[in-house]
Amino acid sequence: MIPASIRTKSTAVRSFDDYRKHQIDVLNALPGDLPGMDCSECKNKGVIYALEDGYEVAKECSCMAVRRSWQRIEKSGLKDIMDRYTFKSYEIREPWQEQIMRSACDYCRSPEGWFFIGGQVGAGKTHICTAIVGKLLKSGKSAIYAPWKRIAAELKACLNEPEYTARMDELMKTDCLYLDDFLRTGAGDNGKKSPPTQGDLNLAYEIINNRYNGRKLTVISSELTTAEILQLDDAIGSRIAERARAHTNNIKRDISRNYRLGGF
Ligand SMILES: [Zn+2]
Repeated sequence: MIPASIRTKSTAVRSFDDYRKHQIDVLNALPGDLPGMDCSECKNKGVIYALEDGYEVAKECSCMAVRRSWQRIEKSGLKDIMDRYTFKSYEIREPWQEQIMRSACDYCRSPEGWFFIGGQVGAGKTHICTAIVGKLLKSGKSAIYAPWKRIAAELKACLNEPEYTARMDELMKTDCLYLDDFLRTGAGDNGKKSPPTQGDLNLAYEIINNRYNGRKLTVISSELTTAEILQLDDAIGSRIAERARAHTNNIKRDISRNYRLGGF
């Protein structure tokens, strides 16, 4: 058995470096109080301390990108529907709904490429896309909810200003971009929806092409099918078709497929 005096000495004598490492460990072990998610890395402080070249540094924890996404999503109003629009609450009564569900679950299991759902109004497109984005957020990915009409109006309003580049940059960098009601336009004079303007298409191309080049996850819902988008703009349509090849869901237009009318 080791005499008590030696044992005490071996634990008491620490090098200065060991002491500082210990201090860092103590700091990292302190719990924080950031809400929204439970991060085992930073214990909800948002920072991780480390020694770099003898200096103590505090680095932002990767969970902060996800926390910011949650905040943005909360502000965007998606948070409320995120609790309601889950995979669990998605009703499956017909084979086409089962097909959509399978495609969405498959996308979430191994998120790669893009997810596209287009066609019939009121067929639960927002429901399924919201469920996907909710799952991705919970798995630690950052996401931006981009309802097309609003995003397009905001970006066009700051086209030649520095804010435009900053916002584009944000849309490009996020792990997952959710373009909701992609290429939706307002009603024309005759009450029918007017086609997207060249300005809309230019903007859509810039966003789609950025996501395409960055090989970033993109979830798209639209009243248009991929064939209709291709007809409108070949460069936009072909990029969507390519990236979403494994997860494209075009819903046939059929009044019985409109959830909102209650038809089945
Ligand atoms: Zn963290």
